[in-house]
Amino acid sequence: MWLLLSLCVFCLLGYSEGQDRATLWRGNDRSGHCQYTFTVPSPSETSCSPTVSGGPEMEGLKARLSLLEVLVARLTGGEIGGPGAGSQSQAGLQEALTQAMGERILLQGEKERLERDVEELQRRMEEMRRETERLKSRPCYPQPPLVPPSVPLQDSGLRPAGGAGVLSHLVSRPGRQWDTGSLRDPAWQYGGNAGFQELKAEVTEIPAPIPEGPEDSTGCGELISIGEPVSHRKADSIAGKYGVWMQDPEAVAPYGGKMVWRIDTVGSEVRQLFGYEDMDQLSKGFPSKVLLLPEPVESTGATLYRGSLYYQRRRSRTLLRYDLASESIAARRDLPHAGFHGQFPYSWGGYTDVDLGVDEKGLWAVYSTNKAKGAIVVSQLDPHSLAVKRSWETSIRKTSVANAFVICGRLYTVASYTAPNTTINFMFDTATGQGKEVALPFRNKYRYNSMVDYNHAQRKLFAWDNFHIVSYDVRLGRQ
Ligand code: CA
Repeated sequence: MWLLLSLCVFCLLGYSEGQDRATLWRGNDRSGHCQYTFTVPSPSETSCSPTVSGGPEMEGLKARLSLLEVLVARLTGGEIGGPGAGSQSQAGLQEALTQAMGERILLQGEKERLERDVEELQRRMEEMRRETERLKSRPCYPQPPLVPPSVPLQDSGLRPAGGAGVLSHLVSRPGRQWDTGSLRDPAWQYGGNAGFQELKAEVTEIPAPIPEGPEDSTGCGELISIGEPVSHRKADSIAGKYGVWMQDPEAVAPYGGKMVWRIDTVGSEVRQLFGYEDMDQLSKGFPSKVLLLPEPVESTGATLYRGSLYYQRRRSRTLLRYDLASESIAARRDLPHAGFHGQFPYSWGGYTDVDLGVDEKGLWAVYSTNKAKGAIVVSQLDPHSLAVKRSWETSIRKTSVANAFVICGRLYTVASYTAPNTTINFMFDTATGQGKEVALPFRNKYRYNSMVDYNHAQRKLFAWDNFHIVSYDVRLGRQ
């Protein structure tokens, strides 16, 4: 008993002294049994459970984990915003990786397909190259006729000049010497000449002759087109602002057909008639003859025919025939009822009431009368006596047009004397007595065209356009 009591006292005393050294615990365990626990501090360690209370090692692990999380967030492009951010970033990374792998597979397949296409193209190119080599090595064999025999290349309706023009580009082909007859000779196609294919192509491009070809055996036809104006001389004084120039289409001695005649019609006493030996002398401005007309000239309506100058006497309806050989008036006659000196001029004025002209059928006068109420009257005149042989009244007002000329018995009118691009706007056929509107392009290059007349020997229109002596080629159809 004493021993037990002494032990208890000893324990109680020792407890107070060894609070920080050893402890005794008494209590029930989970099964209800009494359990004594005796605890003694470690002499070298303050704690034997560092993972519970934390320390430098734990802190280092935490820091490293945080660093890893930041790196993952940067790689996935996101930020760690909450407890699930890490797992979401990882899922995103996985998805992007899967997608990239799929695209890589698709691209690989496309690359393989393109490589196959390239191989196929190379193969076909090689086949074509071999075919080309094979064809080059073969000789050329005769071909079927290029042109049906029923369609000759030289149409009878084409004059030699026209035919040569059609084929001239072939004749001038370098290295070839042949004529149209050789087209029917198969020999020219042999020999493997490198120019064969080119020639074949050109022959097939020859246009078929058109019915309204520029020439026919009679030399007459309806006006189809008018070329660009060609300037031969520019007048060097104000007297040449407007005027008339002529060549005799049916010249007689002493002057030949090349002689060019000119009258400057500015002024009140126009009487000088200048003669030039040819167009070249006209261009140079060197007249070889100057005639002084016995009576003054009115306006720009004069013309030359068979050795005579025909003109309207100033301020009258009197027509004069001046014989060039004798240099004298050979005939005079009033043009019945003709307006004059500004009564029925062309649209530009200038007292252009009476306009004389010559064509293949003779001498013509274009004018108007009170009876015609300003409509153009065209009369055929006897060139010897100046008597009116026959007259036609048209439906077009003389003052509404810029000028007129006669070709093959057809009267044509010019719409404007100033518009650079105007038209031949009316045609009256004396053979039928019928007129009609037309629209053939006509150029007033210098914008003041005071005279337009036809010369059937030259097959040109002669004109006087604002100091400029000009001519136009014309193209006529068949009769
Ligand atoms: Ca005229």
